[in-house]
Amino acid sequence: MILELNGMYAGLRFSSAHIVFGHDSCGVIHGHSYYVDVKVCGAPSGEFGFVCDFKILKKIVKNICGKLDHKLLIPENHPNLKYNIENNAINFTFCKGDKIKEYKIPLEDVVLLPILSTTAEELSKYFAEHIKMELCTLNLENSIDWIEATVNEGIGQGATYRAILKK
Ligand SMILES: [Zn+2]
Repeated sequence: MILELNGMYAGLRFSSAHIVFGHDSCGVIHGHSYYVDVKVCGAPSGEFGFVCDFKILKKIVKNICGKLDHKLLIPENHPNLKYNIENNAINFTFCKGDKIKEYKIPLEDVVLLPILSTTAEELSKYFAEHIKMELCTLNLENSIDWIEATVNEGIGQGATYRAILKK
């Protein structure tokens, strides 16, 4: 059985700025009003016959959205990005070939994410794996086969990643 959270209707949204480093049009600082759809596949179980309690699942996704909301998202693992933090600011440099771009942003304005790039693709993987980790921490993963997260960059375009739970 598959549970579905519709991010638009369930309020699983965040508005953030990002940079797709090196891309012609998306390589400048710009933003999106993102929303996140989630699917959880598993067998109904327990006292209530839930695959997963909607309330718990929504809280997990809302917490992740809240962490990213109104921030500039920085991918820590980008191969062409170097950064250092000093005096409550992050200095980061994108360097590829003869193209160099340098930035300095207050630390409170950014979120560093352990991903390669802040594309919808990488963000969907981040959400799915993070939801999986939280459910495992709560010992709620036993009846779940997989978790899918779709990160939509506005209406009509998004990427989906499926995190499989090992049995
Ligand atoms: Zn973008």
